[in-house]
Parts: sequence; C-alpha cells; structure tokens
Amino acid sequence: MDKLKVSGLTYGYDARTVVENIDIEVGEGEFVGIVGPNGSGKSTILKCIYGGMTPKTGEVYIDGTNIREIKPKKRATMLAAVGQENTIPFNFTVREIVSMGRTPHKRLFEPDNERDRAIVDEAMDKLGISALAERSYMNLSGGEKQRVIIARAFAQETELLVMDEPTNHLDINYQLQIFETLKASGLTVLAAIHDLNLAAMFCDRIYVLSGKQVYASGKTDDVLNRELIREVFHVKGAVERHPLTGKNNIIFIPNIQ
Ligand code: ADP
Ligand code: MG
Repeated sequence: MDKLKVSGLTYGYDARTVVENIDIEVGEGEFVGIVGPNGSGKSTILKCIYGGMTPKTGEVYIDGTNIREIKPKKRATMLAAVGQENTIPFNFTVREIVSMGRTPHKRLFEPDNERDRAIVDEAMDKLGISALAERSYMNLSGGEKQRVIIARAFAQETELLVMDEPTNHLDINYQLQIFETLKASGLTVLAAIHDLNLAAMFCDRIYVLSGKQVYASGKTDDVLNRELIREVFHVKGAVERHPLTGKNNIIFIPNIQ
C-alpha cells in the first residue's frame, strides 16, 4: 500500500485551473520529488495534501485512508508539513515552536514530559539550532526560520513528511545536511524541489509538472535528461554522471557564452 496517494487531483483558483488530473504515489520509505517551472502548481498540489485546500476533484490518501476521513489531530500524527511560507503569528521562542511538533501526540494543555523534551532537543540538534533555542523566532534570518520549521516537523515524529522547497533559504551546507538527514532517517518524503541538481542527488523518483499536468515521472535518472530540461524548463543542459557523487549532475548552458 502506498504511504501517500494523490488520485485524479484537479485544483484551480476561481475559474482558472492550475493543475489537472494529477496522480502521485509515494511508497513507504521513498524520497520523491516534485519539480517544475515557477507557477507549475507544485505548492498547489502540496497544499491540497497538507494545507486543508480541498481539491475540485480527486482524492488524497494516507496509509490507504482518505484524508477527508482523518481528523486534523490524527492527521498531524501521520503527516508533517513544511510549507514554503511559514508565518508564525506570535512572538514564540525557537524551542516553543519546535515543541509545537509534539502537540498532536498530547492531550489539550498536557505539559511536555521528559521524552517530549528529549525529542525537541534532538530535533533542534539535528538542524543545528540548539544555540538559538531561547531566541525569538521573529528575529531570525530566513534560513534559521526554515530550520526551525523543519525541526518542528521532525519533532512531530510522523512517518511521512511533505515539504515545499524545504531548503530554499539555506546555504549549501545546510541544504546537503538536511537532505542527508532526511535520507538517512528512512522517512517517507514528498518534496517540491526547485534545484534540479538537489533533486538528482537525493530523489528516488520525481514527478515533473508542466502544462497543468504530470509531464513525466519515474526514476530520477531516467526522467531528468537533456530533452526534458529543454522541453520543460526551456534551457540547454548537459547531464553527466559525476564520478565523485555517483549521481547525475546537470550543467546548464547559457545561450550567450
Ligand atoms: P509553484 O509552486 O509550482 O511555483 P503554485 O502552485 O504556487 O506554483 O502556483 C500555480 C499557479 O496558481 C500560479 O499561476 C499562481 O500564480 C497561481 N496561484 C497560486 N496561489 C494562488 C492564489 N491563492 N490565488 C490565485 N492564484 C494562485
Ligand atoms: Mg511553490
């Protein structure tokens, strides 16, 4: 059974359809990417999975159960989300925000116990934000905020993570570190990924969005080739297996050289 399944999803804003008849399947332990040009509908699909946006048609299933039938608190024990924009309305400290990841596992107003604190500490440690624990979230840099939100998702201890360009604000060190941590965790991940080389490095499979639909999908190495990069992203690229990483590496070739 798939850990996550999106079936025949169509969504539009007002009368304008932005994604049409999307099917996505993520097996247990898989690391799956969604790539596509700006505005191709990556965030829209992810918000239909985690953000409470109801598709016009289509269904989303977690562990075989339609998410419409899963109460929000239960859903938060099954799926953790890292959105593209994460506005935190009040002035919380970093530790308070990461601790919010524990909420779905607890009764209302139940204080954090030792185990909760250990999980929160470990999540902050993994994301390199332990030193920021008592700082106010509001005053952090974009990259620091991003790491706090990812730590909160880790603290949620779900088997499934759905992430919208999770490393966008981060420098290369944290980009690699977070993807490596995710990969090593064995968690099931569906992530919109802007950077094709990061996708090539870490994704078992990818879905490429273009023209409102899944333009191509499959094993990352099979899908992300020169022709597809030209057709979908309208740039010249060369794809080579890199001897140091053993992964495909995409070189983009500007028209003016
Ligand atoms: P991506 O994440 O791939 O860049 P999005 O899913 O954010 O794409 O956007 C897909 C399309 O839907 C874009 O044309 C975008 O302008 C439009 N869109 C996104 N959010 C809204 C909204 N709240 N209202 C109207 N149009 C939207
Ligand atoms: Mg987006």
